[in-house]
Amino acid sequence: MTLYNTLSAAQRAGLIDEAGQERLTLSFYKYHRLENPQAFRDELYVAWEKLDVLGRIYVAREGINAQLSVPALRFAEFKAHLDGYPFLLGVRLNIAVEQDNKSFLKLTLKVRDRIVADGIEDPSFDAGKAGRHLRAREFNDLIADPKTLLVDMRNHFESEIGHFQGAFTPDVDTFRESLDIIAGELKGHKEDGNLVMYCTGGIRCEKASAWFRHQGFRSVAQLEGGIIEYLRQVKAEGLENKFLGKNFVFDNRMAERISPHIVSQCHLCGEPCDTHRNCRNEACHILLIECQACVARLNGCCSEACVERAALPAGERKRLRKGTGAPKKYFRGRGTRP
Ligand SMILES: [Zn+2]
Ligand SMILES: [Zn+2]
Repeated sequence: MTLYNTLSAAQRAGLIDEAGQERLTLSFYKYHRLENPQAFRDELYVAWEKLDVLGRIYVAREGINAQLSVPALRFAEFKAHLDGYPFLLGVRLNIAVEQDNKSFLKLTLKVRDRIVADGIEDPSFDAGKAGRHLRAREFNDLIADPKTLLVDMRNHFESEIGHFQGAFTPDVDTFRESLDIIAGELKGHKEDGNLVMYCTGGIRCEKASAWFRHQGFRSVAQLEGGIIEYLRQVKAEGLENKFLGKNFVFDNRMAERISPHIVSQCHLCGEPCDTHRNCRNEACHILLIECQACVARLNGCCSEACVERAALPAGERKRLRKGTGAPKKYFRGRGTRP
């Protein structure tokens, strides 16, 4: 019995091409107390490997967070397997807006401390007490109210390429950091404002809305199913789409376009651009927004220094990498925050 991925990404991509079958990219999460996350993780691995599921899945004592792709023809079997767990029966599956058969090339299932790292140590905090869940229509109505404070619960590199009109987008790298920043920013409005939040699929708001209620905010609500479900409802019900730009996603697609607006700029030259890439110099690999002209000029790197590094022989690059510490993960923009 294999419990870990054994194929390389290239081998997997080859197999997907050979099979020639459509795959469905989707995500779901559920907060649910698990007594033995490791056993649950192993059970899922065995079942999902048989179904040819690929993706990145985290399991913790507080629940499961899954982003994955499944062959379209095996979707019914996959769904039946999920429904076999009482706490996952009928769980909402967020189907990706833009499909790509190679969104994931491995099945990675990991046991973590938390499914959303929060840094909260207050033992009286109950993450089960989330705020009100809003459908797209109610969400549109509520964010039009001048007493509403709309907050983006994602990180700066996500909100930079797309966000709701008028949202507060904290300049943070992690969810953990954003809780304190938002609490500080909005502390004068605990009584009189409607705090409304959103994220990609809802998992971060689920915890954040419970946290802000715990902090004393009276009216707390969250967008049900996040940006992905919002767009589905907007289309199905013919509502106004108030999201501008792209939805950042954590797989090989990197983003899906939600509206034609380009709300960000190339980090290097300032031209309108909302395409993320990683610097081609592996020792750097920084995530940045880079336009086609800059990609061509710098040969896929983020700077002249990285162009020089990337051109060195492998042994030399390795030697230079030693002792430089962990590289920075995200490029900081040129003061172009929304
Ligand atoms: Zn550029
Ligand atoms: Zn670089």
